This record gives sequence, C-alpha cells and structure tokens, in this order.
Amino acid sequence: MRKLKRVMGRLAVGLAALLAFAIYNMSLDRHDFEAHFIDVGQGDCALITCGGESLLIDAGTPDSYEGIRRYLLKHGVSRLDYIVATHGHSDHIGSMTDVIEGFSPRQAFISHHAHDTNTYIGMLEALERKNISTEAPERGRSFNLGDAVCTFIWTKEYEDANNSSLVLMVDYDGYRLLFTGDMEAEAERELLASNADISAAVLKVAHHGSSTSSTQELIDAADPGIAIISVGKNNDYGHPHKEILERLSDRQVLRTDEKGSIVIWWDKDKSGVEWEK
Ligand SMILES: [Zn+2]
Repeated sequence: MRKLKRVMGRLAVGLAALLAFAIYNMSLDRHDFEAHFIDVGQGDCALITCGGESLLIDAGTPDSYEGIRRYLLKHGVSRLDYIVATHGHSDHIGSMTDVIEGFSPRQAFISHHAHDTNTYIGMLEALERKNISTEAPERGRSFNLGDAVCTFIWTKEYEDANNSSLVLMVDYDGYRLLFTGDMEAEAERELLASNADISAAVLKVAHHGSSTSSTQELIDAADPGIAIISVGKNNDYGHPHKEILERLSDRQVLRTDEKGSIVIWWDKDKSGVEWEK
C-alpha cells in the first residue's frame, strides 16, 4: 500500500511537471510584441502581433496559403485585424485572396499602384465581397496595433510597382522595425531626401536582397542591428545578391532560406530571436 502511495505520489509530481511544461511552452508563444517573418520561399509574408491584435504584411506566393494558414493558427491567430499588401506582385499578394477569405481582416492597406493581373483583381474583389475597409494610405498615415504604432513612411506611386511598395515603420516602445516591400533605389533615394527618420533595430531587406535595392545610404540611415532577408532557396534571381550581403556584413543577417520562419519578440524587460530550423 505504501509502495502504491509512493508511485501515485511520483505520478502526481510527474503530471504537475508535465502541466507546467505545457503552460511554459504555451507562454513561450505569447510575448508582448512579436514579429514573425514567415518562410514562404521566394516571397514576403510577415505577421506582427501586439496586445491581442494582428497585422499581416504581404501574403507570399499563390502556393503559400496552406503554410500561412497553418502558421497563423499555430500561433493563435484565427482572425486578422490588419493586412498590408505592399505592392501587387504575386510573390507578395499571391495568397492574399485566400487570407482575406480565411482570416477576415478589419482593414486593408494597398499600394497606390494598380495592376490588371488576375491575382490583383481577385484580391480587390475579395476585399469588396467581404466588405473590408480598404485604403491606399497617404504618407504619414498611422494606426495602432495594441501598444505598437505602425506608420506608412513612404507611399508614393511610381511607374514601377516595386518602387510603389508601401513602406511601413512599426514602433513598439521605441523598438522599430522597417518594412520596405520591394522598394528600389529610386524610391529609397526620395525617402531619404524626405528626411524621414528611418532608423530601425530591424530591417526587412527590400526586394529579397536584390542589388537594385538597399543602397549604402539607406542601410547607413536605417542602421539596423538585424537584417531579415525573405528569400527562397536556389531562386532564379540569385537573391540575395552578394554585394548586398557584403553591405550588411556588420549586421546580423537572418535569411528565411537558411533559418525557416524567424520570430523576433519583445517583452517589457527582455527580447529574443528564434527560428524554426
Ligand atoms: Zn518580391
């Protein structure tokens, strides 16, 4: 009998430890602020969560939806508050129609540069069908995501779709992340000339590390500690280009082709960087 009691006692301790471990693991997934750079191969997709609100910046390629859906649900996001479609190319809005259907965002922000592709028109139709407030924002437009403030710091329309990318600064208590879409050198130069403060702890490197973006001047002005490159393994474009990697050599460079999905999180007194692989 005593032996049985001892075994039961041990079982109870084991069970409590297991439960504590499960709770600990769950809490690992919930920080005050999280920025997820979701691995979608050769494309962009980032999820920001703060104060129970969520924002998706771009939605990968047409093949990305199942991966994005699973990733969002795994991280407790079943409904999005905001979506940003930086520009209309299919490596950024490829799965946006499915995201709109599946995650019913409250508000959408789109580039001023329109397209006549099926992917783009499909996205607009889905926004209309679901009656989602849709805006091509002016420069300086901002919105709150929990305690974070998201500001569009460059939104100009160019002839070129990449240059017309919405550029978003996300600021959480002074920690700043700069999302550049696929903006190229021309837009970068004008952004810098506007004297906008683009300093950021984290830079989502423009255009998957293409040498047509990320001028030395932009990198110097942003001065990020961490540079994220969202890029597919062995892609047809040779992204990221080696001159950009050289330009970023004194930063911590994290690539989704090497790390898988990358998470940067902040709590009141600490922060961390994690990845899947
Ligand atoms: Zn792209």
